[in-house]
Amino acid sequence: MKTVKDLIRLKTLVKTPPMPVLFIGHGNPMNAIEDNSFTQSWRKVSQTIARPQAIVVMSAHWVTNGHYLTGSIQPETIHDFYGFPDLLYTIHYPANGLPALVEEVCTLTQFISPSTEWGFDHGAWSVLNQMYPNADIPVLQLSINQKLSPFAEAELISQLQFLRNHGMLFIGSGNIIHNLGLINWQDPRPYDWALAFDSQVKDLLEKRDLEGLANYHTLGKPAQYSIPTDEHYRPMLAALALANSDDQITFFNEDVVMGSVGMRSFILRK
Ligand code: ZN
Repeated sequence: MKTVKDLIRLKTLVKTPPMPVLFIGHGNPMNAIEDNSFTQSWRKVSQTIARPQAIVVMSAHWVTNGHYLTGSIQPETIHDFYGFPDLLYTIHYPANGLPALVEEVCTLTQFISPSTEWGFDHGAWSVLNQMYPNADIPVLQLSINQKLSPFAEAELISQLQFLRNHGMLFIGSGNIIHNLGLINWQDPRPYDWALAFDSQVKDLLEKRDLEGLANYHTLGKPAQYSIPTDEHYRPMLAALALANSDDQITFFNEDVVMGSVGMRSFILRK
């Protein structure tokens, strides 16, 4: 059965079969340039996806009051981290924006506004630099709305599902487990609570239990330790909110590093 959203046509993008949806655990900013098992998986997965007409990234590193999409023609590369090797500060991700598309999406959805105050932060470009190194596909970055509950936000984001039928690749970029205060520099093995939460989340993702995942406050101590603040968790909820009922979920990078950072990533596709 066709829904109203299936009938939406955009001026800026042509219709396509549904694009996949990704959630990427981005971890250390050095993943932008390092060749390791995580970045190899990112590159590998990008090679299995039809070339997107545009990419939307919701990054953990842009938290606002309200939802915003980057509206510049050439968004700047933001180096929003400290104490890393000089080389990382020389990386620029020169993808164009697509202001006409941003305008269309903002008008259609009514809950997003364009912003020229932000560009691509490392949650977006560290992943894109590996997946789409030529930077020849337009990229929009989407902010997290801290005024909404995680579930209310995910429900709004689900309204962007129609973009999947217009060659749009959505990437949520964060980390399901993200407790920097408890990083263990001496012993990289995962904490027991991190492994417990990782497997709980995997289970809920397999059941597509968006509400259960969004109400993480009810998931006990492992969730409390894993999500001291939820900006790295919410992009995962956004990705799940865009799932179609006939999508399969495939996990990759199912590791917990430095004790308390979960790298679990997934792709949703038919
Ligand atoms: Zn981060």
